Amino acid sequence: MRTIDHIYIEGAFVEPHGNERLELFNPSTEKTIGYVVLADEEDALRAVAAAKKALPAFSQTTKAERIAMLKRLHAAVLAKKDALRDATIEEYGGPVSRSTWVSQFAAQTFLDAATVLEGYEFERTVGTSTVVMEPVGVSLLITPWNSNAGSICSKLAMAIAAGCTTVIKPSELSAIQTQIVTEALHEAGLPPGVINVLSGRGEVVGAALSSHPDVSRISFTGSGNTGKLIARAALETMKRLTLGLGGKSPSLILDDADFAVAVPAAIAAAFQNSGQACIAGSRLLVPQARLAEISLQVKTIAEKLKVGDPADPATVIGPMANRAHFDRVQSYIHRGMEEGATVVAGGLGRPEGLEQGFFVRPTVFTGVSNTMAIAQEEIFGPVLSIIGYESEDDAIAIANDSVFGLHAYVFSSNPTRAQAVARRLQAGRVAINGMQHDPLAPFGGYKQSGTGREFGPLGLESFLEAKAIMTSNT
Ligand code: NAD
Repeated sequence: MRTIDHIYIEGAFVEPHGNERLELFNPSTEKTIGYVVLADEEDALRAVAAAKKALPAFSQTTKAERIAMLKRLHAAVLAKKDALRDATIEEYGGPVSRSTWVSQFAAQTFLDAATVLEGYEFERTVGTSTVVMEPVGVSLLITPWNSNAGSICSKLAMAIAAGCTTVIKPSELSAIQTQIVTEALHEAGLPPGVINVLSGRGEVVGAALSSHPDVSRISFTGSGNTGKLIARAALETMKRLTLGLGGKSPSLILDDADFAVAVPAAIAAAFQNSGQACIAGSRLLVPQARLAEISLQVKTIAEKLKVGDPADPATVIGPMANRAHFDRVQSYIHRGMEEGATVVAGGLGRPEGLEQGFFVRPTVFTGVSNTMAIAQEEIFGPVLSIIGYESEDDAIAIANDSVFGLHAYVFSSNPTRAQAVARRLQAGRVAINGMQHDPLAPFGGYKQSGTGREFGPLGLESFLEAKAIMTSNT
């Protein structure tokens, strides 16, 4: 049993003013694994005051000093990668392969930010002006449960690279990961107040921070509904905003693809992190003439996917993160059936032999029209909809017929054709023939998948203000 009863403010672990205790569960066993004492609005004020106090000195640090800090942060988080992996497995049932990747990714983001910072010019001449890029100020970083450690580190890395001080409001549902990351951040020994971390309820602490006048910038990752609340709160004092929201990403298998390779890869994209991934390829678009054949291929693979203990390396699908989320995924499977789609694999209820834990059956629908709720709404679980298309133009039209535009996947044996299709898709990222992640490429969404970009030079610039200095010659 873990007890997390401190928040991190001004370089020290301190008792929160808040006293609500939130129980933490292991979703594989439904057993209590600890509790976290949640911060409240008073704590939010303390955290912002600490970040504000640290800003003048930190914003004046040199590039070389911040690169050195990023390297220390990388080493400190990397040293805890195994603990972080285990917490990810225990806390939300992330399958071990994914949890291992995420904990390494979390550490790596600091080195990636150092690389970007190294090559970035904070001062340049544009026209007759000198343009100076300056840190935007106190930055609020709000993260979701499904990529808590990765999100904390990737956002923090860019804030530090830019010279901004931070208040981090991680998901209260991932308090153990937060605790491990925070201990690492503390060990990296940055000046007090540069990093402040507090677990608390979104509607309490998150809301207090999002509307705080001394917060200049918010980088948020989470659901669309929360993103809208934060955007409204931010508007009042014109805070700079990056929103990384939900998705309903299409995987387009073109008719010239090698189906033996493309279909398993598209299934991996759909069911990554048990489907609890913003970039899950949850709509599979296939040539209508090959629909029956591909559906059979998908069914065969989906029925063999191992569901169960996320610590087992053979497991592909772990549990849903909590009971409410399990119920939500079940209700979408029910809805798909009611809408007239055909279940070809999985379906309602728990997998055989897994009566305990929030496990769902990897579910595949065919007979799906793109207007159905299961094709339009983010389910955030292992539920895949197969949709037939008549032509390349039709495939692109279906792919783009979504309020979301976070990610897309294209499978083709013709690189020129795949590139051309990628360019016509409304998505912030398009992966061709795989699930590759480029840490230096921008990441963010078109349409309701968000606004702004993370990672790479654009990610760094999102924590900077541009100032043009114009000198008169007279
Ligand atoms: P969520 O919106 O419920 O919570 C995200 C964070 O916002 C949490 O820390 C929460 O406490 C906080 N919050 C809640 N209400 C708030 C308020 N009123 N003011 C300020 N903060 C508040 O999302 P979740 O369930 O934790 O995460 C799942 C969602 O995140 C999915 O929709 C997924 O697609 C999305 N996501 C997006 C990306 C991306 O990069 N685009 C990455 C991962 C997850």
